[in-house]
Order: sequence, then structure tokens, then C-alpha cells
Amino acid sequence: MSAAPTPGEAWGEGPADRLHEPLATVLGARTAGPLAKLGLRTTGDLLRHYPRRYGEPGRMTDMSELAVGEHVTVVARVATATVRQMRSRGGAMLQAVVTDGTHRLALTFFAKRPGVLRVHEDRLRPGRTGFFTGIVSEYRGERQLTHPDYLLVGVDADDESSALAEAGRPVPIYPASASAPTWRVERAVRTVLGPLTPADVPDPVPDDVLLARGLVGLHQAFLDVHEPADAAQAERGRDRLRYEEAFVLQAALARRRSQVAHLEAVPRPLRGPGDGASILADFDAALPFSLTEGQRAVNEELARELALPRPMQRLLQGEVGSGKTVVALRAMLQVVDAGGQAALLAPTEVLAAQHARTLAALLGDLAEHGLLGGREHGTRVALLTGSQSTAARRKNLLDAASGAAGIVVGTHALLGDTVQFADLGLVVVDEQHRFGVEQRDALRAKAERVPHLLVMTATPIPRTVAMTVFGDLETSTLREVPAGRAGITTHVVPADNAAWMARTWSRVREEVDAGRRAYVVCPRITPDDPSGAPSRPQQEDDVPDLLDGLTALDEEAGDDARAPLRAVLEVVDALRAEPALAGVRTGVLHGQMTPADKESAMAAFTAGDLDVLVSTTVIEVGVDVPSATVMVILDADRFGISQLHQLRGRVGRGSDPGLCLLVSRAAPGSPAGERLATLAATTDGFELAAADLEMRSEGDVLGAAQSGRSSSLRLLRVVKDADVIAVAREDAARVVAADPGLDGAPALREAIAERLDGEREEFLDRT
Ligand code: ADP
Ligand code: MG
Repeated sequence: MSAAPTPGEAWGEGPADRLHEPLATVLGARTAGPLAKLGLRTTGDLLRHYPRRYGEPGRMTDMSELAVGEHVTVVARVATATVRQMRSRGGAMLQAVVTDGTHRLALTFFAKRPGVLRVHEDRLRPGRTGFFTGIVSEYRGERQLTHPDYLLVGVDADDESSALAEAGRPVPIYPASASAPTWRVERAVRTVLGPLTPADVPDPVPDDVLLARGLVGLHQAFLDVHEPADAAQAERGRDRLRYEEAFVLQAALARRRSQVAHLEAVPRPLRGPGDGASILADFDAALPFSLTEGQRAVNEELARELALPRPMQRLLQGEVGSGKTVVALRAMLQVVDAGGQAALLAPTEVLAAQHARTLAALLGDLAEHGLLGGREHGTRVALLTGSQSTAARRKNLLDAASGAAGIVVGTHALLGDTVQFADLGLVVVDEQHRFGVEQRDALRAKAERVPHLLVMTATPIPRTVAMTVFGDLETSTLREVPAGRAGITTHVVPADNAAWMARTWSRVREEVDAGRRAYVVCPRITPDDPSGAPSRPQQEDDVPDLLDGLTALDEEAGDDARAPLRAVLEVVDALRAEPALAGVRTGVLHGQMTPADKESAMAAFTAGDLDVLVSTTVIEVGVDVPSATVMVILDADRFGISQLHQLRGRVGRGSDPGLCLLVSRAAPGSPAGERLATLAATTDGFELAAADLEMRSEGDVLGAAQSGRSSSLRLLRVVKDADVIAVAREDAARVVAADPGLDGAPALREAIAERLDGEREEFLDRT
């Protein structure tokens, strides 16, 4: 192993600083350069760069069977070792030959200057025996190891058996690059880790917690994962580091909860019968349906929390079509009745406009305050989107600022500095997973006292994911869908079966003839759209989806042979030419349209001026057109389970039965075919979410989902490590409760701050 340069005393400002030392200072610019390209800039970065896996240790390879490309360790005697200047490439080279008496193996080292190589030359004295480890390559017909690791008997190890033990260590394999191959990373790690002591490595996990959970300290954990003597030691280190990730995350969330709990909110109690006119009471009286049990229960919960002087922090999970909007509206009206305002945030302009229309329709003349025919104690609904005319926008801004609008609906444009509220009492975020912590905070900052917060999601979230992503929120769940829904039937249609395809379009025709409407969903907008990944609508008003990993399908790479994916603009032409659909009015909706065009397409479809809407997944969340009964999803195998479930939730919302046809080229029994079959078999979103996670065996839900956190979650897998998360959550809550400022745990405080910084950077990158 190469000699470790001893770090100088220049950084000696305090033990914590050791982890922040730039690698360029510790290792020199030449070694640090390629590491920086891996994103590793400080000692701490490098130590947190864990091996991806470990090479099989301890198996001595017979020198007669050295296969090119294999990672081997051989015992051999040095025959020759010479440093040469290389004329052609510049730089120097050390060539050595080792032998077991019969077979030869060349060892090659390169360097800019011969000086570095002299060290090896001096060590590799002919006659010495050593263990040589590396990957076998071939050069001019001879087997060789380039930059092998080696241990010399009598030099690095006292005798052959201790050398054997040393050589028998698992070989860490690091995430690496061409300029920083794994063996270079390994050396760099050893160089920086070697001189560190436990005091140099402040541990975010308090000692008593380590003790209680039987975990090793951070310094030991670094040794365990980077230089394990055996597999069990590596695992011990990984366990501890995995726990730490969960613990820091949960401590961050616990602190957040405790900080918010100490904030003051304006209580917005429900108006009693004796309190005079109530918009909510009038609204309930006019509601054309009765609430489900679940809706009632959640509304009671919300009513209670809104009446408290602490900000409500609640996540409402609901099955698709379970009627979350009404629940939210009733909470909003409670706040308006109490003299405050409510803001409703939607992820897209299409949804915001739809919400404004729905609320206005549900409220009727209660939403026409100040207008002729409006109720004197009514309110107004203002819509604020980026695409409005200046005049409309100005009027709505004024209504929000004066308080004339009790309810303000918009996209994240509502977060803009120009939007003022008279008295914002409640923020409702629809389809929450597109809004991160940052956005929640930005909106909260809009009121003098913290407004109550209700976030809603139709993506069922497994408990541990909820604990991790939304760990600062309490959760309510709506499982039931209102009675009287005819429900939805799902079939898989093989795309290459002409008869089935013809039947598909004639089914659409039948529905249209009966006065109903259809969606046709495609994975792409134009035929030459290279993205082909149907993961998310590309909308200018879209913000990143924190749960993408749950809903979007991993790319099934390398499938060039498959037929091109269907595209909105091509399909709409094909459908207009389809005899079975002659006379059917067909429109398009996709993310490349202007917001105004999107809105008018949606309005035309809602009003019945269009029969068939050909679209991308823009319609995935929340769009509510009860008379739409059929959905045809083309290339359905390209979508993830949760996403398909969301999509089909757009039909069967009224009293007519819904039909979802999943058109696919996927072979039955293939993973994609299995997904579609599962979907056809059940409509329970929670069951599907579980199936979805199971099928993603890797379970790397947060990998893509929360790339903001991917920098801090390296080993933790949110689904697989549910137990670790639950335990860490308990521990973290206890630590934070005992010491809310974490004054006694500076390393933990710092780890949390670094995490948040990472998230913030990530957030800025994505917006
Ligand atoms: P989601 O929970 O998916 O957001 P919505 O709030 O869009 O669902 O509600 C779906 C449809 O069900 C809407 O048309 C809504 O008016 C209707 N709805 C809501 N609650 C009830 C109920 N209790 N009975 C009948 N229909 C309801
Ligand atoms: Mg909804």
C-alpha cells in the first residue's frame, strides 16, 4: 500500500475540521482532481463514499489460470523490478516480474516522475515474496497487473500467515470513474483514514443511543466499511451507517415538528348554530350528495385542529376519487367563516383552473359575494395563474390582498412575492407530492402567523415512506369512495391484435354515441420526441415530483428493438381518420401547449364540446370530468403501476361505469405484462402501491424520488429498512425532546444542517 503523506498541522483548528479538509490539501492536486469529478472534495466526502460492494477475498489464484479481466490475488516471488523513463508518452514506468517458479506475471506502475516509482522499486526487491492483488490484463501476450496492491512478507506483514490474513480481506469496490478507478479511490481512502482518530470524527449519533442499539461509533464504522477484515465487519459498519442516515433524517423531522409545534396560529373554530350566518352551513345544506363516513371523520379531525392556536400539519391520503376536494373545501369554508382566507395550491395550471371552476360550481351563489344575486355573507374564489391576462391577474391579486376573495386558487405562482393575502389562515396543497418542504415553507411565510396546512395526495404512500418524506406531518386516510360509483373495469388489449384494437375504437364510439367522453393517453407528444419516458408531463408550471420513484417506471433500457411509442400528435390524426370514429370531435392536451390552450382544451372537454381527448399524462392527477367513461392508454407498459392507477382514476367517477383499456405490446408473463395484469385485477390503490414496491425489488424508492436526499441517503432503503427507520424515529424523537436545540449534540446539529443545505441546493437545481 502506498505510503500515506502525513497531514500537516496547518488545519489544527479543531477536531471537527479534519473532515472538512480539502482533498487537494491532504492528497495533492493530482489525486484530488479525479476525485473531485466524482463529487468528492473533502475528507468527509471521501469517507462517505462507501464501497458499492466487496470483491471476493482470500482466494489465492493459481498462477497457471490467470483469466483476463478477473480480480485475483496471487502469492509469488519478485524476479525483477526496474524503473524506466518512457520516451513515447512521457512519464515513467516501473516494470516488475513475479513468479511462482513456473509461471510469470508482469506488474506495471506508471507515474509522471520516476521518483514515486523508486519507492516501489526499492520495496519490490528480487527474492521477496508477496501477495499481489489486481485485475488481470494482457499486454503483448503476457499477463499483467496494473497498479496492483501488494503486501510483502517480512516487510508489510511479519510472516506468511499474517500476510495471508491481510490479503484475505474483502476488496472494497468503489463507485469509480475512468480517471479515478476503484483502486485509486481505495488508496485515497486509506491515506485519509489512516491518521484519523475517533476524536477527529464527530459522531452525529449520541453515545447512549449507540450503546442502546449496539452500534459502533463513526470512526470505527469508517474502518469497518473501508478496510474490513471480513464480510461481517463490513456489514457491521454498513448497519451502523444505515442507522445513522435514518437517525439524522428522523432527527431533522422531529426538530421540524417541534419547531412548528411551538409556532402560534390563529384559531379558526367552527361556527356554532348560534353564531349567525355560516357559509359552511349553507354549503352543506346545498350539497347534492351526503358525505361518506370517511369524509365526515376527516372533516371532524380537521375542524378540531383548525380551532387550535397551533398550526395544523396534516397529510390527507385518499384513494383516487375518494372526494378529497370536498373535504378540503369544507375546511377552507370553516376558515373563511372564522374571518380568514384559504389558499389552494395545485400542481398544474390545468388543475388549478379546474379547482377554481369546481369550487365556484360547488359554492354556487355563495361564491358571488358582492355580485348581483350573490349571498350577502358569501365569499369569492380567485384564481391566480401565470398565464392570466394582466387585468384578470390584477383583479384577483387585489381580491386576495383585500380579503374579498376568501379562497385563492393557483399553482405555485401563489408563492410569488407579488401575491399578498389579507389574512391567510389555511393552506391546502393538492396532490402534495409535487410540493417539497421548501415550497411548504415559502407559502407559510406568507402569513403573519403560521397558517394551518393541509396537504393531499392520491398516491398511496407506504408508512415508512410517509414517515420519511412527510415525517413532519400527521396523516389521515380516506379509503372509501362515495357510494353510487359504478366503478371501473380494466382490460389489457394486445396492440398487435387488429380485432381487439378495432373493438377498442368501437367501444369509444359507443360511449360517445351515448353522450359520454373518452381519454386516449399516449407516452409521447410527437413521434420524434426522443424522451419516450412517460414519467411526467413536461409542463412549465410543473414542479418536481418527490415521489417520482414511486410512480414513474424505471427505464427499461436497451430496448431499441421495440416499435416506436405512440405520440399524441400522430394518434390524433390516426383517430380522425379511423372509420369507427367518423364524426367524433377529437382534441389534444399536452405539456407543450400554452397554458391558455391547455385550459381551453380542458374546458371544451368538460363542457362536452369535445368527445375524445388525446393527451399525455398531463391528465394524470386530479382531473375530474364525471361524464368521461372510457380511457384508452397506449403503450401502457411504459407507465408504472401507481401512475396507471392515477390515470384510470379519471374515469368511472360518475354514475356510469368506467372502462380502462391498457393497450400494450408487452408479452403476458413479462414484468411489464405482470404489472398490467395486477392492475386489471384490483382497483385498491393501497394494494397496488404495495405490489408496485414489491416488484421494484431494489426498493430504491427514494433514490430518484428524493434526489435531494440521495446525497444523504446512501445505504438506507426506505421500504426494505422499515424497521431501522421506525427505531431511529423513536430514538430521534427522544433525543430531540430532551434537547430541542441539540446543544448537547453539535455533531447531530451539523449533520442536520448539511442535509438541509443539500436539499435546498437540490431544490434550486430543479426549479
Ligand atoms: P379525489 O379524492 O380523487 O381528488 P375528487 O375530490 O375530485 O376526488 O372527487 C371526485 C368526485 O366525487 C367529484 O366529482 C366529487 O364532486 C364527487 N364526490 C365527492 N364526495 C362525494 C360524496 N360523498 N358522494 C358523491 N360524490 C362525491
Ligand atoms: Mg383530487
